[in-house]
Amino acid sequence: MRTKIVIVGAGPAGMLLSQILQISGIDCLVLERKSRAYVESRVRAGVLEQVTVDLLERVGVADRMRREGLPHDGFNLAVDGELFRIDMTGLTQGSKVMVYGQTEVTRDLIEAALARGTQVVFEAEDVTPHDIEGAQPFVTYRVAGGETIRVDCDFIAGCDGFHGVCRNAIPEEIRRTFERVYPFGWLGILSEVPPCNHELIYSNHERGFALASMRSRTRSRYYIQCPIDENLDDWPDERIWDELAIRLGDEAAAHIVRGPSFEKSIAPLRSFVSEPMRHGRLFLAGDAAHIVPPTGAKGLNLAASDVHFLAEAMIAFYKDGAEDLLNDYSRKALARVWKAERFSWWFTGITHRFPDRNAFDRKMQVAELDYIRHSHAAQITVAENYVGLPLE
Ligand SMILES: Cc1cc2nc3c(=O)[nH]c(=O)nc-3n(C[C@H](O)[C@H](O)[C@H](O)COP(=O)(O)OP(=O)(O)OC[C@H]3O[C@@H](n4cnc5c(N)ncnc54)[C@H](O)[C@@H]3O)c2cc1C
Repeated sequence: MRTKIVIVGAGPAGMLLSQILQISGIDCLVLERKSRAYVESRVRAGVLEQVTVDLLERVGVADRMRREGLPHDGFNLAVDGELFRIDMTGLTQGSKVMVYGQTEVTRDLIEAALARGTQVVFEAEDVTPHDIEGAQPFVTYRVAGGETIRVDCDFIAGCDGFHGVCRNAIPEEIRRTFERVYPFGWLGILSEVPPCNHELIYSNHERGFALASMRSRTRSRYYIQCPIDENLDDWPDERIWDELAIRLGDEAAAHIVRGPSFEKSIAPLRSFVSEPMRHGRLFLAGDAAHIVPPTGAKGLNLAASDVHFLAEAMIAFYKDGAEDLLNDYSRKALARVWKAERFSWWFTGITHRFPDRNAFDRKMQVAELDYIRHSHAAQITVAENYVGLPLE
């Protein structure tokens, strides 16, 4: 079997790339380890930058997002329960973010891909890239324990997330990784109740961080910072609601509607970058190359901007054989990645309690948040990073 590009992974990065390539008349094949149902039900991101929204519009996968998504032009920061607002749109000359769940983005992209006839193989086993340093790379996989299938291609796009196989196909002596693992996690719940505020609230409380978010006007997403080895059984719903009411403060608590959670999990927090994002004929995009803590809502958005740069380079190559954009992909993508890494790391640092920090450090956090509250210049910086830096 032969195709131009084999895409490993049917998450947001892989499916968005397949959509852009298909629209541009470039054949591709997507190989995904999990089932379609599993991929479509993975609960994760919820905040889309303007750049991501524009990309989804451009590839014709934005109808449902326009109908059901919630455009936000501000968000709130809170210190020990006292709220203040960052007017994103006013501070950035009109930019917004869109609250629309990753599950919905993925569903829309998969539906659009299958409608276009893109080949997507779910439950592909033992997906392995080969000969990435040569001019004729190929990928092998199996289905249901059957015979090994070989797909020859021009390029391989490693969109297979943090636990995928593609990053490790780059020889160790070439790869450099940079990592910070945070000494806490986020306990998240989804509940079919209206949100306590029509905008997000990021709260620094002396008991730990809390986030009030949402997926729709009737579905809330809440998080609290917790030890990474916390036992979920110790957190019945009522305890979580009580803790949220304390950490988010009286103003937000007065509007919290309690209900049963239908999803509850603890996510680790990590900053991670693997360089380079290209080796030979293999290109990495999204979580396969980098991870951010979810505080800045950047992970899915970085996957989208990587794909934008990669698709642009591949389209130029197939149009007139130009390789300069392919050669520049890793540098260009990493320049944006590192800025988002910085923002996510910084935002995590000023909003969470760190077990190894003392009362002085907490005073510094509170002073920084107070500075942001009263400084127009500081608010512009926060807002322009939150809505997403331009693609350049
Ligand atoms: C709790 C949580 C909250 C988050 N909140 C936000 C947020 O608000 N905003 C934001 O922008 N981001 C957020 N993120 C991050 C965001 O979810 C990820 O950055 C995003 O999913 C990255 O997309 P991706 O396609 O690169 O990787 P993934 O979504 O991980 O997709 C990779 C795909 O590759 C498949 N795969 C893996 N290995 C193989 C293999 N060997 N063979 C074939 N297929 C394989 C996987 O099954 C998966 O489907 C959050 C993440 C978490 C965990």
